[in-house]
Amino acid sequence: MDYDVEDVIAVIDRERYVRDFRDVATFEECCRQCPNYGNRWGCPPFDHDTLHDLLPYSKVMIVGMKISPRDSKMPLNRVYDLMRPELERANERLLSLEKQSGGMAFGFVGKCPYCGGAPCARREGKPCRHADMVRPSLEAYGFNVSLTASEVLGIDMQWGKDGNMPRYLTLVCALFFNGPDLQW
Ligand code: SF4
Repeated sequence: MDYDVEDVIAVIDRERYVRDFRDVATFEECCRQCPNYGNRWGCPPFDHDTLHDLLPYSKVMIVGMKISPRDSKMPLNRVYDLMRPELERANERLLSLEKQSGGMAFGFVGKCPYCGGAPCARREGKPCRHADMVRPSLEAYGFNVSLTASEVLGIDMQWGKDGNMPRYLTLVCALFFNGPDLQW
């Protein structure tokens, strides 16, 4: 393995998380600049007020994964290779916890991993081929992920520079749920 990974977990009240970390107008405007906008089932626009999906839950488990390349000069174009195993691990765990708790999981922006690179069915107005596995990102529901990382997890997100990876990459996902705290 050519990286180290550290998982950082925090649980926050849903009411506080929605109040202090969500700004739908700002983040939907960012999403509009992305080619996935309206073309992927995990992305906005959605056909309903997304706040209604969140209200049934009292708590949110936020999971941050800090992925540190061991080679400090690793090129930025290897970013997806580095993240892929961690994305798979996190998606699997999130779906399992979602099932266990009856909650709602939030995954990641970027490539959808389930159709092998084929164009998304949304482009043809057809239902998602893997709706049992695809989840929106926190950004898609208007959450500020950078603020979440710094204020909730104590992680300052870093960005690549001059074609090189940052010291670490940060992936953030979440589970809205009720009941006792869950083991990640
Ligand atoms: S699984 Fe396929 S159809 Fe569903 S959102 Fe991903 S690319 Fe689109």
